[in-house]
Amino acid sequence: MTRAYDYDLFVIGAGSGGVRASRIAAGHGAKVAVAEEYRVGGTCVIRGCVPKKLFVYASQFAEEFEDAEGFGWTVGETSFSWEKLIANKDKEIDRLNGIYIRNLQNSGVAIFQSRAILKDAHTIHLIAEKRDVTADKILIATGGTPFLPAHVPGIEHAISSNEAFHLKTLPRRGIVVGGGYIAVEFAGIFNGLGVETALIYRGEKILRGFDEDLRDHLSEEIRKKGIDLHTMCDITRIEKTDAGVVATLVDGAKIETDFIMYATGRSPNVEGLCLELVGVKTKANGAIEVDAYSQTNVPNIYAVGDVTDRAALTPIAIREGQAFAETVFNNNPVAVDHSIIPTAVFSQPELGIVGLTEHDAREQYGEIDIYKTSFRAMKHTMTGRQEKTFMKLVVDAKSQRVLGVHLMGPSSGEIIQAVGIAVTMGATKQQFDQTVAVHPTASEELVTLKEKWQPPAD
Ligand code: FAD
Repeated sequence: MTRAYDYDLFVIGAGSGGVRASRIAAGHGAKVAVAEEYRVGGTCVIRGCVPKKLFVYASQFAEEFEDAEGFGWTVGETSFSWEKLIANKDKEIDRLNGIYIRNLQNSGVAIFQSRAILKDAHTIHLIAEKRDVTADKILIATGGTPFLPAHVPGIEHAISSNEAFHLKTLPRRGIVVGGGYIAVEFAGIFNGLGVETALIYRGEKILRGFDEDLRDHLSEEIRKKGIDLHTMCDITRIEKTDAGVVATLVDGAKIETDFIMYATGRSPNVEGLCLELVGVKTKANGAIEVDAYSQTNVPNIYAVGDVTDRAALTPIAIREGQAFAETVFNNNPVAVDHSIIPTAVFSQPELGIVGLTEHDAREQYGEIDIYKTSFRAMKHTMTGRQEKTFMKLVVDAKSQRVLGVHLMGPSSGEIIQAVGIAVTMGATKQQFDQTVAVHPTASEELVTLKEKWQPPAD
């Protein structure tokens, strides 16, 4: 039988979503190819979650050395080599990149190291190879790209998270601009590594969209750790000087620093893909419009992951990629449920979140019970560190179902993964209470919170 097209499926972008979709589709017998213009593995593996978390680990040792003293240790002179961290990080990323390539090859997926763009609904042009290939189905999984405000004079002197992973030396001073999770995480990383760090955010409070209590508690903690947090503030101009860069702020004040990293959001990566040529519909921000099965308005073209701007997280891109392949190549329609997404912010202290904020729960459910606690973790009774742990349960007053859990403290990301199971299953406050506490842990608070929080009387 001759095929009408070169491939059953052509995937543009070998990141979290594209790789998963390619492998699953190939596993169902499809002839699959994927094009990648940078490095197989995509943002998460190459310049996102993985190297970021390695940096977070690196940045936590300074506190660990200090804290050890309270437990009787004398830590000798310490020193830190940024160059060594970068080299070891790069080695690990190379290893993972190799695994991703092998996994695709072992699944029978053809890899094109090239930028790919659309020519028509079934034709893809491979720029590096200067040739076209055809496919029955096309999956766009091109992810997102850092957004830097082009209108700020001197913005070319600023960097994004992409470059932050490859700084040649560790600067003495730095500014991170933004209030989202990437900004907050990088501010913590630089601060922990001893960089004099300012975090500049134009809004009133960092982490828009997160629970208000978490936003307040984290703001307080990062200030305690020495991050110079400026809210309601923005940079209007950047100038390069012999000593570094100078940022002019909205109020006219100037800060001299060594680097400015923007983490002011990510845009769907659609530029130059020629979507308009094929008639694929996008939203105002460029995100590709898809239905619950990741199908675009052009029936044989699908899109998954950050480029669709549903929830820009690796596990979601992976799920969407998997669901697409199941739906299209295994005749088993699967729609990803985006309603409950456990997630972590690797700030210092760390956050773990699942379900609704108090604000959203009140809007959707009306009467809500709130349980919350803030305390100093046991470890810090010995270290003297004033860091607080915070935990909050948002409960539907009528059904007693736990709608949201919001944590700040060590290992919150690890804790929330397990709590996420209970919340996804629809556990009630009573079921949390029936669960025997694990003692002594911080998370035992989650099953021993008795008193409903009452707003203070005016
Ligand atoms: P990507 O992984 O971005 O893959 C898209 C790929 O397509 C890229 O490799 C790109 O080079 C390629 N590409 C683009 N255009 C073309 C083209 N025309 N031709 C060929 N190839 C092309 N998520 C979490 O869940 N947890 C975290 O802790 C976390 N931390 C993050 C930290 C940072 C600094 C960043 C930037 C992101 C982080 N994320 C995190 C988000 C996560 O990385 C993304 O949600 C995830 O990678 C999205 O996967 P994707 O498949 O949609 O796209």
